[in-house]
Amino acid sequence: MTPYFLIDADKIERNLTILHGIMERTGCSILLAQKCFSCYALYPLIGKYLSGATASGLFEARLCSEEMPGKENHVFSPAFRDDDIDELIQLCDHIVFNSPRQLHLYGRRAKSAGLQVGLRINPECSTQEGHAIYDPCAPGSRLGTTIEGLSVMPEEDFGLLDGLHFHTLCEQNSDDLETTLNAVEERFGKYLSRMKWINFGGGHHITRTDYDIPRLERLITHMQHRYGLHVYLEPGEAVVLNAGTLHTTVLEIQPVGTDGIRNVIVDTSAACHMPDVIEMPYLPPLVEAEGEHAYRLGGPTCLSGDVIGVYHIGRELHEGDELVFGDMAIYSMVKTNTFNGMPLPDIYISRCGQVEKWKSFGYDDFKKRV
Ligand SMILES: *Cc1c(COP(=O)(O)O)cnc(C)c1O
Repeated sequence: MTPYFLIDADKIERNLTILHGIMERTGCSILLAQKCFSCYALYPLIGKYLSGATASGLFEARLCSEEMPGKENHVFSPAFRDDDIDELIQLCDHIVFNSPRQLHLYGRRAKSAGLQVGLRINPECSTQEGHAIYDPCAPGSRLGTTIEGLSVMPEEDFGLLDGLHFHTLCEQNSDDLETTLNAVEERFGKYLSRMKWINFGGGHHITRTDYDIPRLERLITHMQHRYGLHVYLEPGEAVVLNAGTLHTTVLEIQPVGTDGIRNVIVDTSAACHMPDVIEMPYLPPLVEAEGEHAYRLGGPTCLSGDVIGVYHIGRELHEGDELVFGDMAIYSMVKTNTFNGMPLPDIYISRCGQVEKWKSFGYDDFKKRV
């Protein structure tokens, strides 16, 4: 019953094959950023191809250790909590701090427990326009340590560091990575040869058809040779790009509205089931031939702005018709909510043409959360 997500394991495997090829040719390590996709039924498959996963905190780190056992488990947070740190140190093998203060507080404990310790830097090099909420290099950013912050760090804390980490990209190509790496080398170059590894973060849209993989590989090789560094990448989107759909049913088609476009109410909500549509914002692709029939699709919640978008499709819609949104594995299931008492979409997984239901949600899930 709609709404439901359908995750395509074969498409994920195709993405994983591309990522694994980069690991093989360059010797770098690639991790899944779990905040983008935490559908752990696929973790065994992902663990077969990638080096492990990275977490935003305790829960994701625990999920990785339970569902991708034996693989690398990295964690970064803008500020760790005192009551989480001991468990994180037990679960993880790499911990990345956001500030010299956090490194000072917890670095020694992590290090003596055998973890690799890193610091997130802010190369102060914006390569994206228009999406300030996705730009960790935007003025006033709280994410990462600038070169000023690093250069006044006490030598004994600096000595705890095994690696540096930056994350500045969002759905970008390797030309922007090159620009960023130039800034990293220019500002942080003298510290790089004292490190064992560098983490390029996420935001690399590697599995998109126009992504320039040879340039990415040249950049990885450059950092390996020039500074003797091991290179990590931790993409989320690239692992599960175009590998899922969200299925919905037309509930009602309203008469032509005041702006000449017919409003259609569907049983999935932008606000509850694809909040990035409103946050980012973007128009999610419909798996549907384009044409002359214009419809504004909106959710069944009270929010006037719960609009998925205006579409021009090749057929006339009727109540009860199913519509399918594409590219719904990324930042979808991890972001759903039950505002207005909306049900959470069930999750199905398809593998070699066989579809199986993985999870279903109901009233109890709503009740537990409110
Ligand atoms: C969001 C994030 C990622 C993953 O980004 P994608 O755009 O999904 O590839 C990786 N590392 C960090 C630190 C992040 O915040």
